[in-house]
Amino acid sequence: MDYAIARRRMVEKQVLARGIHAPLVIEAMKRVPRHRFVEEALWAQSYGDHPLPIGEKQTISQPYMVALMTQALELKGGERILEIGTGSGYQTAILAQIVSRVYSVERIPALARRARRVLDDIGCRNVNIKLSDGTIGWENEAPFDGIVVTAGSPQVPPHYLEQLTIGGRLIIPVGGRGSQVLKRVIRHGREDFREENLLDCRFVPLIGKDGWSEGEGR
Ligand code: SAH
Repeated sequence: MDYAIARRRMVEKQVLARGIHAPLVIEAMKRVPRHRFVEEALWAQSYGDHPLPIGEKQTISQPYMVALMTQALELKGGERILEIGTGSGYQTAILAQIVSRVYSVERIPALARRARRVLDDIGCRNVNIKLSDGTIGWENEAPFDGIVVTAGSPQVPPHYLEQLTIGGRLIIPVGGRGSQVLKRVIRHGREDFREENLLDCRFVPLIGKDGWSEGEGR
């Protein structure tokens, strides 16, 4: 299988055809070898129009969702971005093509380790990964020009708002454990946050202090 061809087709049919237009996002999606972020048995399916399992009951997001969330940050290049939920590291790699540094937090050690290895293998050098509960953000490195959360939260965790620059953007799925609305919150001033809904989505739960509990309940 020619992965470069599969990737070009993915960008045409799933990204461009659905209205993603930001040139930096399109270029990044053309470049990053998505198959490397899943186990080898799934490489042939990795450019399909769907999420895929990555172990530990977690998933790599659908290509379109990665493109949409990245575009929603309205990046120009040079930003410092916080990502919550490293997972496979694919969204991390897309961001790393565009911005100057990505700070990514993951709570499951095996996933953080594997993402680190793949990102090193493909030459992503501007990524810091931290193993911890990302619902409290990453205070030592704040503020961030953008924060992208790739797991569904019952609410907007207050630390994310505090850790945004003025003009900074937060992209986060908010709602129930099984389905959410993807929201964008823009910080226009110190206390001035404006929120809009982008689309309905389904993410795995954000688990931690300001997210969901590990079990079934809240
Ligand atoms: N962007 C990733 C999405 C992975 S799924 C990708 O496309 O591969 C969401 C990830 O969020 C999972 O790896 C899960 O372990 C992680 N996660 C859930 N709650 C978290 C928390 N509180 N802090 C950090 N990571 C969290």
